[in-house]
Amino acid sequence: MTAPPCFQRNADHVASHRCEVIEHRWVNSRYRYIRLHAPVDLANITRPGQFYQLKCPTTEAHQPFLLRPMSVYGVGPEPGTIEFLYNVAGAGTQALATLAVGGSLDIVGPLGNLFSLPAHAQRILVVVRGVGLATLAPLVQLAALAGVQVSAVLSARAPQDLMRDEFLRGVQAEVHSVYDSDGSSGVEALERLVRGLLARNPFDVVYTCGSHRVLMMLQQVLEDHPAIRGEVAMEQRMACGMGVCLSCVRLFDRDGDRQFLRVCREGPVFDIRQVMKEVEFG
Ligand SMILES: Cc1cc2nc3c(=O)[nH]c(=O)nc-3n(C[C@H](O)[C@H](O)[C@H](O)COP(=O)(O)OP(=O)(O)OC[C@H]3O[C@@H](n4cnc5c(N)ncnc54)[C@H](O)[C@@H]3O)c2cc1C
Repeated sequence: MTAPPCFQRNADHVASHRCEVIEHRWVNSRYRYIRLHAPVDLANITRPGQFYQLKCPTTEAHQPFLLRPMSVYGVGPEPGTIEFLYNVAGAGTQALATLAVGGSLDIVGPLGNLFSLPAHAQRILVVVRGVGLATLAPLVQLAALAGVQVSAVLSARAPQDLMRDEFLRGVQAEVHSVYDSDGSSGVEALERLVRGLLARNPFDVVYTCGSHRVLMMLQQVLEDHPAIRGEVAMEQRMACGMGVCLSCVRLFDRDGDRQFLRVCREGPVFDIRQVMKEVEFG
């Protein structure tokens, strides 16, 4: 398997870390924020786009066996501090939600490749759905530090799910919010919005995470903008997270060369143009 151009793994640093929970709270009715302290400084070895595998605890109600992949929402500023933002979904995350401050959580990582932010980039567009914002938030911080202008389209079920402040964390950005509740997040409306933004502004890169439909829409839109780079962080279900079990493979098309790649190892960040539609697997 050959690696995509944005591949810059720092696999030498992958390790298991026993962390202490130092903050754990609801952000809204569906999402929780957890802040951990690790015995080593993860800020130096963790980059935007990467993820960790979390060993969710066993509770009376849930006995999650596999580790659960979570994007890094933030690292630092104190040495060893790492943050995750997660949707309380099934057995693993429901068990995770029970962890008390002072308790411990084992995490394995950093895993996967990174978003690339080209040195010449002056303006980026992020199109993000739901908790995909946790994955893209560190990139927005990095872009702002580099003096890159950020525009964002944030999509959520309803205004109370949007988490705009949690996404921007103080970064100044042009934000467009769309919702399922008023129909503004539908793919056609979103496509009109994105096409309008791309027509008016000289974007260098478009990034996305959190929705396959949005990914496919962006792929189509970018056909009309060959100079704009596109990257997506894929949220494929995975088991080992280390490239061994092959449960997270997806089909990609690289200049006509169709290849199955592991989202956990060759990804999770891929060129938007190379992702093939889920229906084309068979
Ligand atoms: C790279 C990456 C980053 C992510 N980042 C975030 C994030 O920041 N925040 C967030 O809320 N969510 C994130 N997710 C999604 C998150 O991992 C899932 O929502 C979470 O695993 C759900 O676990 P659960 O036990 O609550 O749900 P369940 O649906 O009960 O269990 C899902 C888990 O079961 C296992 N599993 C189920 N089916 C299969 C299968 N067919 N093959 C292999 N394994 C299987 C996997 O371990 C999977 O993670 C991310 C996913 C990926 C891949």
